[in-house]
Amino acid sequence: HHPARSTVWVGKPGATVPVGPATFTFVAGPCAVESPEQTLEAATMAKAAGASLLRGGAYKPRTSPYAFQGLGRRGLDILASVGAAVGLPIVTEVVDARDVAEVAEQADMLQIGTRNMANFGLLQAVGESGKPVLLKRGMTATIEEWLMAAEYVAQRGNLDIVLCERGIRTFEPATRNTLDISAVPVVQVASHLPVIVDPSHASGRKDLVVPLSRAAIAVGADGIIVDVHPDPEVALCDGPQALHGPDLRALAQAVRQIPPLV
Ligand code: PEP
Repeated sequence: HHPARSTVWVGKPGATVPVGPATFTFVAGPCAVESPEQTLEAATMAKAAGASLLRGGAYKPRTSPYAFQGLGRRGLDILASVGAAVGLPIVTEVVDARDVAEVAEQADMLQIGTRNMANFGLLQAVGESGKPVLLKRGMTATIEEWLMAAEYVAQRGNLDIVLCERGIRTFEPATRNTLDISAVPVVQVASHLPVIVDPSHASGRKDLVVPLSRAAIAVGADGIIVDVHPDPEVALCDGPQALHGPDLRALAQAVRQIPPLV
């Protein structure tokens, strides 16, 4: 129960970035932090494209245990120092309740990924962290289950929650997931929380990131979160969905063209 749609502020005091109904927040960065050089290059590209928050995974929950699992603590240190260098608050995923305090020391926003949306112990731990939370929708979760996951965070006294629609699993194999664009207005009616869209993880395809971002803008999402990489061909994680070059410029242009909110 909340009188109006809320705005969540992310970042250090004096340099916070709003996510909510009065603005459109562009979050971008590498899917995974791979090295200081790659992260700085991706962050510089993200900032030049107009991003106001830097994303980057240090702890990577991969479908295969044999895939790159992220640099962990070292990745977090790299992301924090790159974020400070380029002047962007950082968003990063936490996958284990035991890591929450350590990640919260450096991160400006804690991401709960699709695979952990219903990890209630983890949700409670981020609810007690004192940091804003980016809560991705579980890939097989209904909207009600997603909102109840948010309640687990809120119940611990943390109302700084941003929801993220990142695609759901359907029968359609042309895209990695199916972006449920209707979830955005449905959630905005059912909840006061801001909701952003992840077209990168929804589609798994860089050629679809710009059109799906335009769809997110058109439907009234409060922002987008997008993967960028200086050299997607050699990315250690999700290269086929990472933007660079002309695609990133097209995205930057689409974001710049958003009409001012009244
Ligand atoms: C991510 O954003 O790095 C990620 C793994 O996303 P998701 O949890 O939506 O798959």
